[in-house]
Amino acid sequence: MLESISLREIRLALKEPFVASHGVQESRRILLLEVRSRDGLTAWSECVAQETPGYAPETVDSAWDAIRDWLAPLLQGSSVDDPSAVYAQLSTHVRGHAMAKAALEMACWDLEAQRRGTSLASLLGGTQRRVPVGVALGIQDDPQTLARKVKRCLADGYRRIKLKIARGADQKLVAAVREAVGPDVPLAVDANGAYTRGDAAVLRGLDRFGLSMIEQPLHEDDLVGHADLQAELTTPICLDESITGPERVETMIRLGSGRIANIKPGRMGGFQPVLSALERCAAGGVGAWVGGMFESGIGRAYNVALASLPYFSLPGDLSPSGRYWEEDVVSPAWTMSSDGFVEVPLDRIGLGIEVDRDRIEGLIQRAESIRL
Ligand code: MG
Repeated sequence: MLESISLREIRLALKEPFVASHGVQESRRILLLEVRSRDGLTAWSECVAQETPGYAPETVDSAWDAIRDWLAPLLQGSSVDDPSAVYAQLSTHVRGHAMAKAALEMACWDLEAQRRGTSLASLLGGTQRRVPVGVALGIQDDPQTLARKVKRCLADGYRRIKLKIARGADQKLVAAVREAVGPDVPLAVDANGAYTRGDAAVLRGLDRFGLSMIEQPLHEDDLVGHADLQAELTTPICLDESITGPERVETMIRLGSGRIANIKPGRMGGFQPVLSALERCAAGGVGAWVGGMFESGIGRAYNVALASLPYFSLPGDLSPSGRYWEEDVVSPAWTMSSDGFVEVPLDRIGLGIEVDRDRIEGLIQRAESIRL
């Protein structure tokens, strides 16, 4: 049973602004949870909702309210020893608010890992000791600047480069990068839903660059449009924003809306919906990888644990702390080997990292504690 849930909002400055089709981001308001159980354990987790609803409907503020007013009360007095049951419990009378639910649900998985004296990765069924890391690069005005950045990422070891694209900022950028890096480097693009069905010709034009995927070209609800587009493209479509739960994966498979799924536990409500989505991916032959949401090192710990599951073979957005933040809130900070892998702390209990409580205290914008 849980004793308390502490909510803290911190602000971390990004090293450099990040531009995608849905806006520019310069810093990150981050909602952290510290969940205490009655048997004396503490789990930290992170809600991946952003400051504005530009990427997903939830925000830091909506998640805060949802957790305090509706979700925390649902866990009052109930056992959370079986974390696979927590998502269903949190969905009793509460629709949506997946990111708020995920922050609580995933903390319960960490608590259970600690209770069993095992790593979160092992508890989830993870076996991979190191997982490959990909990186996403924001939209640049100048193709040559982008090509230079890509080369720097390749020199750092990243196993896959993903370029953000938008209408009018696509073919030229991709052409410049492909020419600069040669035909063999794994390149992908991500449109964050910026195109419409009428843009099929532009998207077909990307086929010649040998991309490993085109991520979310159309609106998140347009699975039929994605299916029509996929039928015209050689390049696999990867769905990201569309993948809000296991049922969406099934729809994607039935319709043929794509061949790859970007798995983000925050967007799906936690690990249990993800595990059930992965079963469907496996049955339907859909590839999967773990996406990122500019998490701090706490959110990253959950994503690394998830990425250690044997089903994940494609590189995840698991950049080391130093890529985005001057200083992370965990120690050790997440690092990447020179050949582009992150080590999974399979042999350490729980998340496998220490949360830097002092640093967090110094970054707090607001805090609230809920006793259960
Ligand atoms: Mg994406």
